[in-house]
Formats: sequence, structure tokens, C-alpha cells
Amino acid sequence: MHGAKGGRTPVVFEPNMYTHALYRLQLDRDLRRAIALIAKSNNEAQEFELYYQPIICLKTSEIRGFEALIRWNHPTRGLVSPAEFIPVAEESRLIIAIGQWVLRTACQQLRIWQRQFQRSLTMSVNLSGIQLEQANLVAQIEGVLGEIWIAPNTLKLEITESTIMRNTESVPTLLDQIKQNKVLLAIDDFGTGYSSLSYLHRFPIDTLKIDRSFVSRMSSDGENLEIVRLIVTLAHTLGMDVTAEGVENPEQITLLKNLGCEYGQGYFFAKPLDKKAATALLEKKFGNSKI
Ligand code: C2E
Ligand code: MG
Ligand code: MG
Ligand code: MG
Repeated sequence: MHGAKGGRTPVVFEPNMYTHALYRLQLDRDLRRAIALIAKSNNEAQEFELYYQPIICLKTSEIRGFEALIRWNHPTRGLVSPAEFIPVAEESRLIIAIGQWVLRTACQQLRIWQRQFQRSLTMSVNLSGIQLEQANLVAQIEGVLGEIWIAPNTLKLEITESTIMRNTESVPTLLDQIKQNKVLLAIDDFGTGYSSLSYLHRFPIDTLKIDRSFVSRMSSDGENLEIVRLIVTLAHTLGMDVTAEGVENPEQITLLKNLGCEYGQGYFFAKPLDKKAATALLEKKFGNSKI
């Protein structure tokens, strides 16, 4: 290892660097094994699992749809959070295979729920920046839509603001192509990615998701309330609707409603739920209708 100046400065190799590198290697190896399991369509053996967090219409309090959030049930480490393994999967590009599985699985579940409850629920799926770099991403999306019969405008793809702003050259064309398939698009974690406002209007975005950090500080802090108000106004001016992330208490709901924010998502409504619990919630809300 060399210092930044190229060769002269020795870098002390600390034990924790070793542990960290080893940990990453193991994680990478285990991710490959977990991905290999996907192909063996034996449901019991799967280590990846999708959880679903409801997104609520603030006006009617009804469930509008869900965001699919991946979980990894590691055989020895237990539950590994996406914040931990997604960066590793991005570095090795394994996120491409994982992302394909997430997209297909989330769409299959959406179709099941739409038919079972006879509602035009939406499903939001997170896309990594690495997935956006694949030349065949649009073809993949079209493939899934061709295979799984859902209305394209009930699928919503979430891309973080920082990913969009890192790729301002290539992203507009890509988003236009996705949009031509009538799939919905959302900017995730808005407010943390240093958007250039002059770029924002170029993207065919349907929904802006206000980052949890603004929502959580909103009630106690007058300044944050003004930031959220500004974001909502900006979104509406650009023809987008707004989802607030990380809604944890009823005061926040009142404030968000008054600001004209359309949707909310957060622990106050529900944590991300496994398939069974999410189905039970839908049954409770919409009745156990035709299958
Ligand atoms: P995100 O897309 O911004 O997802 C929202 C995160 O906030 C989720 O964390 C969710 O559990 C959490 N959250 C929701 N409501 C609340 C709340 O009221 N309070 C608090 N404290 N947290 C709340 P999670 O599931 O751990 O996911 C973290 C991130 O990992 C996601 O952030 C997303 O960037 C990434 N991720 C998750 N699943 C996928 C996936 O399938 N593909 C990709 N590329 N990324 C994913
Ligand atoms: Mg998201
Ligand atoms: Mg987010
Ligand atoms: Mg986030």
C-alpha cells in the first residue's frame, strides 16, 4: 500500500484494516452463494427476502402501495442490513443479479396483491447506480413487465438523488426510455444529494421522496419545517407528487398534510413487513376478497 504521494509514505497496516478487508471478502463470498441459491427456486433455502413497507395516502389514510426492501438472512451472521451489504454488492457488481431478483420478486408480489384485493396498489423498487450503468436495464424492465402482467404505471423505480446527480449526462436519456414504458420514477432521499435545481426539471420524475432526516427534525425545528415546505413547493411546481420518508409521529402527519404532501411512509404507519404480515395488513384494511 502506498501513500497518496506515490510510494514514499508507508501506510501502517492496522489489524482492524485486516479484519475489515477479511470481512468484506467473506461477505462477497457469501453474497455469491446467496445469489446462486436464487436460481434454485427452492423457496425454503433462499437467504434473500423482500420486506414491504406501506406507503400511505395522507388525505385518506389508505394504503397506496409498498416499497420493497431487501433483507439478507445470513446463515451464521443472522440478519444483515442492506446498508451493510448493498455497498459491497455494488463494488463487486453483484447488485446487478440481486437487483434483477428484487425487481421480479416485487412485481410478482404486486400482481398477487392487486388481484387478491382488486386494487391498483403500487410497488416501489430501489435501483442502484450500478444497475443504471447496465446497457440492458431498459430491456430487463421490459422483460419483467412482459412476463408479469401488471400495469406499468403501478411499478415505481426509486433512484437516489445523489445517483442521479452523479450521472447527469447519461441518466436523462435512460429515464426517458424507462418513462416511455409508462413506469413511474421517484427520486429517493431527496435533500441529501445536492441537486442542481437547473437539472431537476430535465428528469421525467413522478415522485419526490423527502429524506427522513428532514422529516424527523421537522416538528422540533422551525427551519426544517421551512425546508420541507420548500421541497414540497418545488416538487409541485415541477409536477411531481411528494412522499415523506420516516414518518414516526402524528404531529409530523399534521404538518405534512398542511404542507400539501401527498404520501407518507414510516414506522408510525408500519415498519417494513414480511410478505405474510403485509398480506395480513391488506386483509385487515381491504377485506379478504376474491383470490
Ligand atoms: P431507502 O430506499 O431510503 O429506504 C428507506 C429506509 O428507511 C429503509 O431502511 C426503511 O426500513 C427505513 N425506514 C422507513 N421508515 C422509517 C422510520 O420511520 N424510521 C426509521 N428510522 N427508518 C425508517 P432499510 O430497509 O434498512 O434500507 C436501507 C437502504 O438500503 C434503502 O434506503 C435503500 O437505499 C437500500 N435498499 C434496500 N433495499 C434495496 C434493494 O432492493 N435494492 C437497492 N439497490 N437498495 C436497497
Ligand atoms: Mg427507497
Ligand atoms: Mg429513501
Ligand atoms: Mg435512504
